[in-house]
Amino acid sequence: MPDQEAGDNAPVDPDLMDKVVGLCKRRGFVFQSAEIYGGFRSTYDYGPLGVNLLRNVKNAWWEAMVQRRDDVVGLDAAILSPPAVWEASGHLSNFTDPLVDCRQCHQRWRQDKIDGVCPNCGSTEFTEARAFNLMFKTHAGPLEDEGAVAYLRPETAQGMFINFANVLQTTRKKPPFGIAQVGKSFRNEITPQNFVFRTREFEQMEMEYFVPPEQADHWFEYWLGERFAWYLSLGIPESHLRLRHHQADELSHYSVATADVEFLFPWGWDELEGIANRTDFDLKAHSAASGERLEYYDQPSGERYVPYVIEPAAGATRTMMAFMLAAYGEDEVGGETRTVLRLHPRLAPYQVAVLPLSKKETLEPVARQVLTSLQPHFMCDYDVTQSIGKRYRRQDEVGTPWCVTVDFDTLDDGAVTVRDRDSTEQVRVPINGLVDELRRRMDRA
Ligand code: ATP
Repeated sequence: MPDQEAGDNAPVDPDLMDKVVGLCKRRGFVFQSAEIYGGFRSTYDYGPLGVNLLRNVKNAWWEAMVQRRDDVVGLDAAILSPPAVWEASGHLSNFTDPLVDCRQCHQRWRQDKIDGVCPNCGSTEFTEARAFNLMFKTHAGPLEDEGAVAYLRPETAQGMFINFANVLQTTRKKPPFGIAQVGKSFRNEITPQNFVFRTREFEQMEMEYFVPPEQADHWFEYWLGERFAWYLSLGIPESHLRLRHHQADELSHYSVATADVEFLFPWGWDELEGIANRTDFDLKAHSAASGERLEYYDQPSGERYVPYVIEPAAGATRTMMAFMLAAYGEDEVGGETRTVLRLHPRLAPYQVAVLPLSKKETLEPVARQVLTSLQPHFMCDYDVTQSIGKRYRRQDEVGTPWCVTVDFDTLDDGAVTVRDRDSTEQVRVPINGLVDELRRRMDRA
């Protein structure tokens, strides 16, 4: 089991956050939403590189949680849902944050995040806390009356609970089994902050694992271990990752045990993922409210029970940011400082960049052939601008693990130079063995 106190003393670069946010904008990872209209606070658009990175994070999660398992199936449920779902789940009455107003500057804050001091003006005088519901409310259809109220989901989890019977019937799964989903969630956060760490629109990766109640403690521990290992396997250093168990007074209304996977962000340890034992709270609540039986019936034994649920719930957008922060580095190559994103090759926006050494027409057709041969296997960039040194730097900065350079020797020997991002080592590889060589490197990473 991972060490809860791991990494307490790991060093943090004070400028890291600014550097990564700057890189995101400069190179097209993340843009402020509606920027040309002055920006819309707390929503972000993912640019050409960010969309690849985010997709790779979600794919890596899906591969580990669904593809490589025969006990977990996927789901993609609706974002818009009727009040009945949120009434039964407890979100209408419980999904609130305590809101206070500063009496001096009138800024509004989440009481549990400010330690009694206004982050804006330093005052310690606040109004009484009020419960503020975080769900976005809207109306479905042409009438804006009570009967048309709908909510944007604040978590993907409820989609799995309300489809429990559908999935059970159609897949014939037997507990322990899970339903996984990746998708957008919406929360009207009082104080969105820290770039894409806390936003009002974000993406989650959640899995509900249904188990016989007496096995719940075992599976809770199991998923803590699995999820912790997932971050390590994709390159988060052990010094920047820890598990934190919630105290009883911190638990959500549905949970009897929760532990967070925390990452050492530039402002300190903060949550990447929560793993909770939700008991049979959700299935029982939806069963009572809908009148549908949400339970498992084991035909051979004649046993009938409501499974407990172990839920690993991660944020895709937040995790993407953690991967970038962990990967960011600066070092010296050939007497020059370079910025390098040491992203795991599976996560990097591009795995390969094909770079013809010069713009001379003789190199272009071969370079294009190399590119076409790689594109079915890897996400590739193709860059002919500027000097080769500058192009390497540009690829290092966005995390491309391998650059393939086509030069004049290529025309004679049918080989290209493969440059490694981390070691900057260059080796000559025949074009007809290039896909295999890069595949080998991917598998080894
Ligand atoms: P917090 O305490 O940070 O508000 P939470 O404990 O309410 O988060 P969960 O409900 O457990 O969060 O959601 C699971 C995961 O979804 C979180 O670990 C986080 O990665 C992600 N997440 C939750 N809220 C946001 C948000 N506003 N912006 C980005 N990601 C979020």
